Amino acid sequence: MDYKNLVGGSWVETSDSTPNVNPSDISDVLGHAARGDAAQLDQAIEAADRAAPSWAASTPQQRFDVLDLVGTEILARKEELGRLLSREEGKTLPEGIGEAARAGQIFKFFAGEALRQAGDRLASVRPGIEVDVTRSPLGVIGLITPWNFPIAIPAWKIAPAICYGNTVVLKPAELVPGCAHALVEILSRSGLPEGVVNLVMGRGSQLGPRLIESSKVKAISFTGSVPTGRGIAAACGASLKKVQLEMGGKNPMVVLDDADLDVAVDACLNGAFFSTGQRCTASSRLVVTEGIHDRFVAALAERMSALKVGNALEAGVQMGPVVDGRQLEQNLSYVDIAAEDGGKVQGGERLNRETEGFYMAPALVTETSNDMRINREEVFGPVASVIRVKDYDEALSVANDTEFGLSSGICTTSLKHASHFKANAQAGMVMVNLPTAGVDYHVPFGGTKGSSFGSREQGRYAAEFYTSVKTSYLLP
Ligand code: ADP
Repeated sequence: MDYKNLVGGSWVETSDSTPNVNPSDISDVLGHAARGDAAQLDQAIEAADRAAPSWAASTPQQRFDVLDLVGTEILARKEELGRLLSREEGKTLPEGIGEAARAGQIFKFFAGEALRQAGDRLASVRPGIEVDVTRSPLGVIGLITPWNFPIAIPAWKIAPAICYGNTVVLKPAELVPGCAHALVEILSRSGLPEGVVNLVMGRGSQLGPRLIESSKVKAISFTGSVPTGRGIAAACGASLKKVQLEMGGKNPMVVLDDADLDVAVDACLNGAFFSTGQRCTASSRLVVTEGIHDRFVAALAERMSALKVGNALEAGVQMGPVVDGRQLEQNLSYVDIAAEDGGKVQGGERLNRETEGFYMAPALVTETSNDMRINREEVFGPVASVIRVKDYDEALSVANDTEFGLSSGICTTSLKHASHFKANAQAGMVMVNLPTAGVDYHVPFGGTKGSSFGSREQGRYAAEFYTSVKTSYLLP
C-alpha cells in the first residue's frame, strides 16, 4: 500500500484500499490508499486523546519550531507537492504549485501566531481582584476535508489546531489521499510528539459519523457539501460539540455599466473557470447591467472559448479536467437543465484529449433569470450563468437573493457603488474589481447564510474555533 494511515505515531495498513486515479489520465494510478475502519479510527482518537495533555502544555517555542519546520519543507518542495496535487486532483500545475506554496505559508503564519498568544488582564469591578482572560486548547479535534484544495484545506485546519495546543484526527476526502498523506508525512518528521497528528483515510460516510459521535473528540471542523455539513451540524448539536462548517456557494459577480471591461472579463474568467470552477468561492452568477451586458458577454465568451483545456500537467493548459466521473456527470446535467429551463448555452460539451480523462469545455449560460435552478444550486464545475439586470439596485438585490453567502464581487469604477456594495452584500467576503475566488492566507475566510456555520477559519480569527476562553479571578 502506498498511503498508510498514521495512528499514534505509527504508519498502519488496512485490509481494504482504494486506488488514487489521475483525472487527466485514468490509466495513471498514483497509488493505493488505506481505507481505515471504525477500530482504526477509534485507535487514532485514543492516541490523540493520550497526546492532548502534554501537547497542551508545550511551549510556544516548541509549537513555533514544528510549524516553522513544516512550512519550510513544504515551501522547499512546492514544485514536487504541486505536481502531486495536479496529478491527483486535476488543477493545472501552476495552480497546484500555488496551492502547495499557500499551505507552506499557512504553517509559517501559524508558527508566528504560536509566539503571539496573548490574553487580557483587566481590573475587576470589585476592589483588589485581578481578572485574566486567556485561551485554552480544546483537546482532540476532528478535521474532515474535501478534495478541491487537497493540501491547503488540511493545512489551514491542522496548523491552527496544533498552534493553539490541540491534537487532531484528519479524515481527508477519498479522492485525494496523496496530498493528505504527503502533508502528514512531513508533520510526522517535524518533532511533534506521537499522536498529536493522526491520519485516517477511509469512507466518509462510515468514519465521519463515528468521529463526530466520539465523546473524546471535542470539536469538528468540516469543509464539504451542504447536505453533509447540515448532518454534521445536527449531530454535533445533539452532543453539544463545537463545530465549524464551510460549505457551498452560489457566488455573484456584479458587473456594472461603468466597469472597466477588461478588468471585469479577467475577474469573471478567473472566478468562474480557473481550477475548473471547483472552488466554493467560484463566480457562478454573473449579474450584469444592461448597458454593458452584450459587450461583456461577447468578450467573456471569446476568452472562455480560447481557454486551453487539457491534461493538468501539460505546459500551457489553462483548465484541467473535472475531478472525477461523478462530478463530470453532475456538471453536464446542470448544463442540460440550464438549457431546458431556457438558458442559452455556449460551451459545456464533454471533450476528448490524448489521454482518457474527465474533460469538459467551460460553459457560459446567458439569458437566465435568478430563479432558474442553474442560479439556485451549486454546480461545482466550470459553468457560469449571466443574469441581465437594469441597474445597481436590481444587481444588489439579485446578488443577495440566494441561500448562500460566501463571496460576493462587484466590478465598477464607481466609489459610491463599491462602498455601498461592500456594506450591503450579504457575504462573508466581498471583492471589488477582483475575482470572487482567490484569497489571502492571513485573514479570515468564511461566509454567511447557508455557506458557513460557526466561527471563521484562517488568520488570527482561527483562534476562536480552536480554543476556549477562560476567565480567571484572583484575590492576591
Ligand atoms: P464533496 O461533494 O466535496 O465530496 P462531501 O460533503 O461529500 O463533499 O465530502 C466532504 C468530506 O466529508 C469528505 O472528507 C467526505 O469523506 C466526508 N464525508 C462524507 N460523508 C460524511 C458523513 N456522513 N459524515 C462526515 N463526513 C462525511
